[in-house]
Order: sequence, then structure tokens, then C-alpha cells
Amino acid sequence: MTKDKKSKIQYTDKRPDWVPENAGDEFAARVMIGVESGNPAIPGQTSEHQAPHSAAKNKLSVDDHVEGVLKDDRGILAQSITLVESNSLKHIEKAQEVIKKILPHTGKSIRVGITGVPGVGKSTFIEVLGTDLCKKGHKVAVLAIDPSSAKTRGSILGDKTRMELLSREKNSFIRPSPSGGTLGGVTRKTRETIMLCEAAGFDVILIETVGVGQSEISVRSMVDFFMLLMLPGGGDELQGIKKGIMEMSDLLVINKAEEDNFAIVTSTLQNYKMALHYIQSATEGWTTEVLKTSALNSVGIEEVWAKVLEFIETTKKSGIHEQRRKDQVVEWVMSMVENELLQKFYNEPAVAALLPGIKENVRSGKTPPTKAVREILEKFL
Ligand code: GDP
Repeated sequence: MTKDKKSKIQYTDKRPDWVPENAGDEFAARVMIGVESGNPAIPGQTSEHQAPHSAAKNKLSVDDHVEGVLKDDRGILAQSITLVESNSLKHIEKAQEVIKKILPHTGKSIRVGITGVPGVGKSTFIEVLGTDLCKKGHKVAVLAIDPSSAKTRGSILGDKTRMELLSREKNSFIRPSPSGGTLGGVTRKTRETIMLCEAAGFDVILIETVGVGQSEISVRSMVDFFMLLMLPGGGDELQGIKKGIMEMSDLLVINKAEEDNFAIVTSTLQNYKMALHYIQSATEGWTTEVLKTSALNSVGIEEVWAKVLEFIETTKKSGIHEQRRKDQVVEWVMSMVENELLQKFYNEPAVAALLPGIKENVRSGKTPPTKAVREILEKFL
């Protein structure tokens, strides 16, 4: 039995209580192994008590990982994702070897980012879209980036009621957001998870993120197509952060567009269309449009997917698609460099010993900020 001090959730057996009761074994295999091997995004599981456990459990060799992923062995795929999510140096090195070997088998999916404020209907939308795509023969992986999950232990996708239908599709794979660490760390882990899923043959990758700022930029930097889900009547959202996210989007979708709020949906649609006139398109050669859906009633979702396909075709023809993918690899490399430098910096014993005193001196005014920076960096360099 696993019991987390801070959580009231208890597990009486190895099956977490958010797994649907009538879920088949393969559901358990796909989700459970990730849970078992220590995904702290799952309520009741913490990295502290799971990390050594998962390290001890992972007896797979690099080749076992590679072969298992390429065969789409869901258990091994889940364990490989756990490996790339690990912060231990030993695991990071092993994960890099796995990534290097699967690299030739990656890149062939359509990568779509989906954002919007909590409650706008992202999960409902992804469930309908994902299930439709599975029925059409696609293999769909759903991932999440949730910078708050370190605190809340996975507020998105970790929810037990979410995406039950989709999770029962044989061709779906749902993975909650990796948690812990910086957004940069979470970004690296998600990028590598995309690659693992692609190597396992998933041809559509949907990445959900909460519409709260920083994480959109990060998702934008790893997808081909980025869409923003909005609520009817959100005219005031054109201010501030929303405008920034609109500028990154290839499609705006007004969800919850139903008969009984027809007037408000129509005026919202007009408002956003007008606003788009004053915004430069996120992708060269593509005009960002506004569509409406009712995810709850499965209305309008096909039109959204048709737009995604049109976008992919257009950008492939113009060369933008390939260009963007190449730029994203460069960004990925740079963000890994930044991450590693930061990690090295904070792990440097001389820096760790110096920091508390210097911070105190800056607080009390004894050391001016610029001098403090020089003192710290001198120790590091
Ligand atoms: P998320 O937080 O963005 O993932 O939103 P959810 O998918 O969890 O949806 C939040 C609530 O809105 C749930 O109660 C859904 O049933 C409801 N919802 C989602 N899509 C629609 C829709 O198209 N119309 C209506 N009326 N409700 C919806």
C-alpha cells in the first residue's frame, strides 16, 4: 500500500483509483507502469518515495528500451518515458543513449499544441478529437505540460475522470505532465517523450497546456500547429496575456458554442476575427482563423482537424514546416545547454556554500547587487 503523508488518497492495491473500473488490462499497462515507476504527477505519489524504487526497478538495457519502444511495447514505452523524466545523472545518460538510437525513427508525426484557460474544455476537446482520430486509424499520444504540477501533483491529465473514453482506445497513449524541476526541465522531458512516442509509431501527438503564460511559449517551441481554445463572451481576454497567446496561435477555437448562446458566440467570433486583423500571423504564409466547436456535443471538431491538415500541407509545400522543425532542434539544444549550465551552477559546492551569505549581505545592503553577481560568478568560473 502506498500512502502519501500530504494526501488523503490511499491505494489498497497497485491500481490507482482513477483507473476506470471497467478498464482493460492494456489500460493498466499503459498508464500503470508510468505510475508504478514513479510519476509524481499522480496524486498520492511523490518523487521522494518513488525515485529510488524506479531506479531499482529499471533493469532494462539501452537496447531493451530501444527495441521495446520500436515494437510499441506500451510497458517499455512508459518505462522509457520515466527514464527520460528522471533527474538522476545516471538515468539522464542512459536516456540520452536511448534517444540517440531512436532518433532515426522520429519526426513523422503531426504535433499539435492545445491551450486555453482551465475549464475552457481542453480535455473534453482532446478526448473527442483523439477518439475520432483513433477510429480513423491514427495512433494518438496525449501529453501535457503543466508548470504548476510540481505543486499540485498534476492538475491536468492526472485527473481521474479525464479522457476515459480515449484511454480505452487501443491506439491511444495518455501521459500526465512530468512534474518537478524547472519549466526548462519539463520542456526537455516532453520533447524527448514526443520522440519516444513517434518512434513507437504514434502519428499524432497532442500536447495540452494550461493557458497561464510561460508554458505556451514552451509548447509552441515543440509543435507544428498551435491552437487556442476560448470561451464565448471573452472579449476582455483580448487584453494582456491572451493577446500574446493569440499571436502564437495558428487557430482560435471558440468552444462551448451552442444554440442557447448563439448571439454571444456570434459576437465573440466577430470580435476575435477583427482582433486578428491587427495581429501578425504566427506562421508565415498562413492566416489564423477563428472556428467554433462544442466539444461536449462533438460538433465542429472535424473542421478543426481539417484546418490542421490544411496547415500541414501548406507549410510542407512552402518549406516552413521543415524550417520550423530545424529551428526547434536548435532551440532544444540551446535550452539543454542553459539547463545543464544552471544545474552545474547550483550543484557547484563553492557556489552552494557562498550563496546564503551573499544573499543575506544583499538583503541587508552590505553588498551591492553587481558586486554580489561578480563574487558568485568568480566562484563558479
Ligand atoms: P479543461 O480544464 O480546459 O480541460 O476543461 P474540461 O474539458 O475539463 O471541461 C470543463 C467543463 O466544461 C466540464 O464540465 C465539461 O463537461 C464542460 N465542457 C467542455 N466542453 C464543453 C462544450 O463544448 N460545451 C459545454 N456546454 N460544456 C463543455
